[in-house]
Amino acid sequence: MRLVLLGPPGAGKGTQASRLAEGLGIPHIATGDILRGNVADGTPLGREAKAFMDRGDLVPDDVINRMVAARLDEDDAEGGFILDGYPRTVPQALELEGSLRDRGTPLDAVLRFVIAEEELVRRVSGRAQEEGRSDDSADVLRNRLQEYRSKTVPLESFYAERRLLRDVDALGDVDEVARRARATLDDRRGGGAL
Ligand code: AMP
Repeated sequence: MRLVLLGPPGAGKGTQASRLAEGLGIPHIATGDILRGNVADGTPLGREAKAFMDRGDLVPDDVINRMVAARLDEDDAEGGFILDGYPRTVPQALELEGSLRDRGTPLDAVLRFVIAEEELVRRVSGRAQEEGRSDDSADVLRNRLQEYRSKTVPLESFYAERRLLRDVDALGDVDEVARRARATLDDRRGGGAL
């Protein structure tokens, strides 16, 4: 199963992605986590990405595309993957589409986690306190939401046109949303058959 998860910062994508990945036995590939790991290790990629991340800006497409292509080349991604936080722009989506087409392994579905903006602000301020993420402050969050609206929301029609987009209501507790996400995928596969 090859999946992309879409949804604004704070929609609970990361938590749901790791649940789904565990249930399906495929890797959870979170570009934000890979970038934060590189920043923490002080790699050249991390040094390049840090200023963008601290401002809540997107890291340039070519940097991200190279990073994801390398990750998808790893053995564990052969049987499928869940992409969380990628693609985030139309050029990234086109790059992914092209590289999966070359491999003959197109996406199976794109799950969009739908949630009201007031709820996002509430959740992300909680996360800022719990995890101490430097990009969770109010100003930076506003910028991240703006980046999401202007650059990532266009992916919804991109994937709707390709008949891949499925909505999941992201309001509710973690287990409930996880059940909805699984039901959406099972439904897509025709009543749960693998
Ligand atoms: P996330 O943990 O997914 O919210 O990502 C944290 C930050 O990493 C984002 O605010 C961006 O600066 C950067 N980032 C993660 N994924 C991407 C991507 N696909 N394209 C550009 N920047 C990204």
